[in-house]
Amino acid sequence: MSNWLSKILVVTLQPVYSCIPSYNIILHHQTIIMQYGDFYYPIPANEPVLNYGPNSPEKLALKKALKELKAEVRDVPMYIGGEEIRTGKKEAIRPPHEHKHLLGNFHTGDASHVTAAINAALAAKNKWANLSWENRANIFLKAADLLATKYRPYIVGTTMLGQSKNPYQAEIDAACELIDFLRFNVHFLSDIYRQQPISSPGINNRLEYRPLEGFVLAVSPFNFTAIGGNLPASAAMCGNVVVWKPAYTQVYSAQLFMRILKEAGLPDGVINLVYVDGPALGEACFKHREFAGVHFTGSTAVFNQFWKIIGENIALGTYRAYPRIVGETGGKDFILAHKSADVDVVVTAIARGAFEYQGQKCSAASRAYIPSNLAVEVKKKLIATLKTMKMGTTEDFTNFINAVIDERSFNKLEGYINAAKKKSSGAKIIAGGNCDKSKGYFIEPTVIETTDPKYVTMCEELFGPVLTLYVYDENEFEATLKLVDETSPYALTGAIIATDRYAVELATNSLRNSAGNFYINDKPTGAVVGQQPFGGARGSGTNDKAGSILNLYRWLSARTIKETFMPVTDYKYPFLQQS
Ligand code: NAD
Repeated sequence: MSNWLSKILVVTLQPVYSCIPSYNIILHHQTIIMQYGDFYYPIPANEPVLNYGPNSPEKLALKKALKELKAEVRDVPMYIGGEEIRTGKKEAIRPPHEHKHLLGNFHTGDASHVTAAINAALAAKNKWANLSWENRANIFLKAADLLATKYRPYIVGTTMLGQSKNPYQAEIDAACELIDFLRFNVHFLSDIYRQQPISSPGINNRLEYRPLEGFVLAVSPFNFTAIGGNLPASAAMCGNVVVWKPAYTQVYSAQLFMRILKEAGLPDGVINLVYVDGPALGEACFKHREFAGVHFTGSTAVFNQFWKIIGENIALGTYRAYPRIVGETGGKDFILAHKSADVDVVVTAIARGAFEYQGQKCSAASRAYIPSNLAVEVKKKLIATLKTMKMGTTEDFTNFINAVIDERSFNKLEGYINAAKKKSSGAKIIAGGNCDKSKGYFIEPTVIETTDPKYVTMCEELFGPVLTLYVYDENEFEATLKLVDETSPYALTGAIIATDRYAVELATNSLRNSAGNFYINDKPTGAVVGQQPFGGARGSGTNDKAGSILNLYRWLSARTIKETFMPVTDYKYPFLQQS
């Protein structure tokens, strides 16, 4: 279409299309890209969780994939622009439950690679930001379908081997949650694009949901393949370009997701995957004028450091715009049982909530408040339950417990356990307490009982299979609510277990700000995309709720456009007349 004709079309068609968001007609490199429909993506259903029962097709496929993965030593490059970057400076990838085995090596970079990734992102930006919504969305929907089918055993398998998750934990994370993030975010974003302001007679108002100017940095933790995928993908879906740095201990599954995105048609440079250390990343990103925001999940200390550096750079006038700072961080999640609670519900909530995935979920229960009337029975049943949990490798499907992520985490947890074993500690180990790193980083599911509600393991995030239990006077429920609220700086998840409805209401109201995700008669883990938007406040982050519409707003910068059809030609208002 010739240039003059396209301009006429834009001018004449705009009022006709006034009810449609203005991203529908875009002038790009002298070419007009038109949209001939308002493409809306309805709410999807959650991806069904496969159960890997005896001889099920999914179990057979997974076992085959695990064998293949273990037979190979994968050489893992960084992905910058269209290039696979191999530096020769390699880090080994080993299963935490079998640290002698080599799964692969990944090539690490330095600040120059981060700069190259930023440049590749910025080079891709214009075309990506101007790509029509349905073509952007369908890349992520295709990736979800690839995850749900062809690559399901492999994304589950790499998560089992690389992050030591049992098949069920890997399935709900790497397959279902990641698929849900992609499909639900496409739906949420199409909902956002439909949200338009009203217009008075004679004018037309509209909102454009622009991507941010510059690039977004995604920094992801080790413990969820789904979070690793969602942090870059949610920002990219909104039209942003991204530099993604996963935790070194999650690279094995992260690189597979990157390959799936490429197969789904993600253009080069839209998401760039780098493996660098913290200082190299900070040096290149936080001093860059085009730094538009950070999408972070990880520990509170690291996020605090980011915020400080970004704040200092804002004061120096470094950035084009205020960067978006989004962080989901640590937790010290609680289970509070009321004297009316059902003992089996309490024990099961603790067993699953504190020990699944070795307590390495940000939502994992790590402090429990048990009323005196139930304490003996809860402890007896809990100790008996934990004895039934088998611990070992993830390839042996009969194991409920696997290894903690690495030696650093093992040593830290062992330190807390050994301290609690000391007579002078004011605490005692009532279950587990054994640690062994000879073959893998194994920590037995451990329960510490303390008479001091402010004992160190009641307050600090340990991030492992260690729960601290405090027995309170059954008649001191209200005082205990206050204690629960004030014991830690975090406010991520928490649960009240009670059959007394007055107690449920009292706890729900008293603990309003103590947890961003609050559970009644359930464990505090296992949030499902679209059902329980996830995130906490206080020391647990900015509470932008991953997997919800709220998160996506952070990666958009709205432009309001007002058009007046019959512009006024005289500045004087009627009140200015004498009569
Ligand atoms: P971490 O803070 O050690 O690492 C997170 C990411 O930050 C990794 O990619 C890491 O390499 C990077 N990083 C670390 N130091 C850095 C630095 N100085 N500069 C730049 N990058 C740096 O966290 P982790 O051990 O991977 O994950 C566990 C933590 O994550 C726990 O605190 C847990 O509560 C939290 N978490 C929170 C949520 C949530 O939704 N709130 C979800 C998952 C994990």
